[in-house]
Amino acid sequence: MMEGVPLITVLAPVKDEEEAIALFVGRVRAVLDALGEAQGWEILFIDDGSRDATLAAIMAEHRTDARIRCISLSRNFGKEAALSAGLDHATGQVVIPLDVDLQDPPEVIGTMLARWREGFDVVYGVRRNRASDSLPKRLTADLYYRAHNYLSADKIPEHAGDFRLLDRKVVDVIRLMPERNRFMKGLFAWAGFRQAAVEYDRVQRDVGTTKFNYWKLWTLALDGITSGSTLPLRVWSYLGGVVAVGALIYAIYVVIRTFIHGGDVPGYPSLMVATLFLGGVQLLSLGVLGEYVGRILVETKHRPIYVVRETIGAALQPVVG
Ligand code: UDP
Ligand code: MG
Repeated sequence: MMEGVPLITVLAPVKDEEEAIALFVGRVRAVLDALGEAQGWEILFIDDGSRDATLAAIMAEHRTDARIRCISLSRNFGKEAALSAGLDHATGQVVIPLDVDLQDPPEVIGTMLARWREGFDVVYGVRRNRASDSLPKRLTADLYYRAHNYLSADKIPEHAGDFRLLDRKVVDVIRLMPERNRFMKGLFAWAGFRQAAVEYDRVQRDVGTTKFNYWKLWTLALDGITSGSTLPLRVWSYLGGVVAVGALIYAIYVVIRTFIHGGDVPGYPSLMVATLFLGGVQLLSLGVLGEYVGRILVETKHRPIYVVRETIGAALQPVVG
């Protein structure tokens, strides 16, 4: 174990959370201090382009407690990119991403640490109930996890959020992943290692508002599936094959019928149906292709995942990479 390196980094991505900072620091500090770990801890905020007084609130906390640090990004890059920035700058032996709205109780950290000491490298939190989410959100989340795990080889645990304990070696694997598309749950699942789950109850957000609307969640879901599976691309070859075989059989039938009954003009409805159906299928498959091509474009640009504007508080150990 290295000198001066904290045991725990609590990683909190924040976007416009000025009311939440002080509450968060108070509660998390109490939990971390109560653990009584001699090696210490740090709280690393990633300010993801906040436009309110979030950064000032973090600065105030840093002045009273140097264990509170912040990496401020040049603009809003999204939570997944913010988490990547956090993993790059965290110095702890274990890293624990935790939302600043305290929907996930920091008290669970003690249990996570105990499982880690038993030898698990990833200890993820599983929500015992999703009563804190609206019914449509629960249903769509359920559907999504199922679809994702059906399509993708890297299974993501159901009802697990980003709240989890990651051992340093897992963090280093994630940091080595070069892709721009940072669907974190997918990356964690791909990395593997020994994993354990701890259950907890998720509560309502009591300050601030959610930063995720349905459109953002839908985009995240698409990122997750297209980065984890190529089945949506392949399915069109099979469907195309089935449709082609069907068309051939129908053509044979039409020819034979014409020989028997002679040629008659009706058949407009069946023509229309076939044309519309095929048109629809083609547009859909083009759309799916487009989703993947768009993502290939983003990857080939090799742009950085995030840009740091300002660093508050020195890392307790030089960060390599
Ligand atoms: N967040 C972020 N960047 C964004 C959106 C959100 O860093 O572009 C942070 C946000 O400040 C919070 C966490 O991600 O700490 C989770 O967001 P939120 O609570 O709004 O999501 P929900 O719990 O509703 O899924
Ligand atoms: Mg939340």
